[in-house]
Amino acid sequence: MTDVNIAVLGAGVVGLTTALELQTQFRNARITILADKFKEDTTSFVAAGLFRPSPNFSGPNETITRKWINNSYHHWDTIRRTAEASLAGVTEISGYMFSSVSPSTVRNPYLEGLLPLYRTATKEELNLCPGDWKYGSFLTTVLIDCGVYLPWATNKYLATNGKIVPQTINTFTELTGKYDVVVNCTGFGAKYLCNDKKLVPIRGQVLKVHAPWVKTFFYGEYDTYIIPSFGAVTLGGCRQYESYNLNPCKYDALAIRERCEAMLPSLKSAPLVGQRIGLRPHRDVVRIEKEVITTENGRNLKVVHNYGHGGYGVTTAPGTSKYAVELVKEMLMGNSKL
Ligand SMILES: Cc1cc2nc3c(=O)[nH]c(=O)nc-3n(C[C@H](O)[C@H](O)[C@H](O)COP(=O)(O)OP(=O)(O)OC[C@H]3O[C@@H](n4cnc5c(N)ncnc54)[C@H](O)[C@@H]3O)c2cc1C
Repeated sequence: MTDVNIAVLGAGVVGLTTALELQTQFRNARITILADKFKEDTTSFVAAGLFRPSPNFSGPNETITRKWINNSYHHWDTIRRTAEASLAGVTEISGYMFSSVSPSTVRNPYLEGLLPLYRTATKEELNLCPGDWKYGSFLTTVLIDCGVYLPWATNKYLATNGKIVPQTINTFTELTGKYDVVVNCTGFGAKYLCNDKKLVPIRGQVLKVHAPWVKTFFYGEYDTYIIPSFGAVTLGGCRQYESYNLNPCKYDALAIRERCEAMLPSLKSAPLVGQRIGLRPHRDVVRIEKEVITTENGRNLKVVHNYGHGGYGVTTAPGTSKYAVELVKEMLMGNSKL
């Protein structure tokens, strides 16, 4: 396909992964990423990066949601098996999910059968961490560290003739007449760009500590998690619905530290090396759909939306991007340039 102009709005994990998928599917197209934040300034950078969609993560229906998740896992796992894996920030990781109240908390119908290992924790394993753990699972999944992945994906994209323009898009009108199709991967920014009232922030805060002896992840209750990553261990967390505050909260930090140390006492000696805060772009359902927008200047713009991944954008970026790129193909059908 020659001479097709495609813009991707956004340079978070969803925008970059979409841009790479577009490069694979449209080898001769001109692709431009337009974004006003990059790498460590994005929400993606804040993510712990564990491949673990919530059982509540939802696309338009169960079949499509499963397809997104399955495609995503295979995409990450394929990178994980290559020599590029550590440069891309992708690795395999195993760990535990524990609960003292409900067996359903440690089950995940999306992952059982997909991951190479997902089994019930043994009695001995339930005693690994202090706490009255009654239910548990042990699983092997993948981890994607966006601190490593975003620069890797950016370089890969640029090396394949990708163009990046730092720019804030205030209205779709600015894009008419310039692109054959625009893929909207603006994450939480879509709330304003699309005036989307269904998009709500779920604030999260994580601590980064130096604890190289922690090789296994642990999930407990009250959103408590300990996730080793490239270079540091992530301690979390919190989920504050409709909070827009991007400042660190010392009470959240204290609570996270206390809960994680209660679960893994060796963390008491782990020095703090960083703190990150982000707003998960939550939307029920995640929006991946086509729209022809008639803008203020009366011209039409073909848009494929790909936003609203909530707390699971790193997990599901590849599958949702693949799906979005199929919609791009549908939108371009009948385009005289093809
Ligand atoms: C504490 C925390 C922990 C998390 N842990 C995990 C996890 O373990 N696993 C997981 O899968 N997910 C996790 N997430 C969720 C994950 O971070 C998000 O789902 C994901 O980052 C969303 O990616 P995105 O590319 O849509 O958005 P972003 O990373 O926010 O990127 C949006 C991009 O759009 C651009 N943009 C927005 N508006 C405009 C505009 N008007 N003009 C130009 N550019 C614009 C921005 O500049 C940016 O480049 C976590 C999130 C938080 C906060």
